[in-house]
Amino acid sequence: MKNIKIALDGHSSCGKSTLAKQLAAHYGFLFIDTGAMYRAVTLYALKNGIVSFDDKIDEDKLRESMGKIEIAFKRVDNQNHTLLNGEDVEKEIRQLEVSKRVSKISAIAFVREKLVDFQRRISENSSVVMDGRDIGTVVFPNAEVKFFVTANADVRAERRYKELLEKGEKVDFEQIKQSVITRDKLDSEREVSPLRKADDAIVLDNSFMTREEQFEFAKNIIDKVLK
Ligand code: C5P
Repeated sequence: MKNIKIALDGHSSCGKSTLAKQLAAHYGFLFIDTGAMYRAVTLYALKNGIVSFDDKIDEDKLRESMGKIEIAFKRVDNQNHTLLNGEDVEKEIRQLEVSKRVSKISAIAFVREKLVDFQRRISENSSVVMDGRDIGTVVFPNAEVKFFVTANADVRAERRYKELLEKGEKVDFEQIKQSVITRDKLDSEREVSPLRKADDAIVLDNSFMTREEQFEFAKNIIDKVLK
């Protein structure tokens, strides 16, 4: 059977990964979370003094370091965990300190080049569900199915807030909402591979949908394409 690519792009914290995981499990496809890769590079930059806490980025040092950054994924208790140079950083990459800086790192062309190349290589021999910001526009412009997922900003911030509270993190709702809004703005306005809907992507606004409803919506569309 031909390898199928399903691209899920869209705004921050709108449940793309949740949907991508459900679809990958249902169809037996590989799930690839590209946001985790940009987050891992950001964490590396934070830990190695490449991005300072007042947000200045040493681009020369980052360029030199790109060859030393190894990203991989492994399954732990049926969950996907991100490894940065062999270390499990799944929890760290989701923290606000990383979220606040990832859009600046992901706007750098040489960072994107390396990660896009990696994303294509690891999907070469598989059918995949890949979520991110530029999957349907840049990584797989010929993907068989493309979704552009969105929801209103309050709903997204509320979901993220609850998720972090459940994980036992101390969080402030307004700070999270601001982070979500700022990230969307930076991701949409950057010069290299900005977040935008591919012309042939299907919009999925899940503001008033349950997880099950959004899964059914996506599954119906994919089933028609796979027939
Ligand atoms: O999907 P997630 O929210 O984890 O992505 C974190 C950040 O990584 C995004 O806000 C964006 O700046 C960057 N990103 C990107 N291109 C992708 C995936 C993520 O620029 N394909």
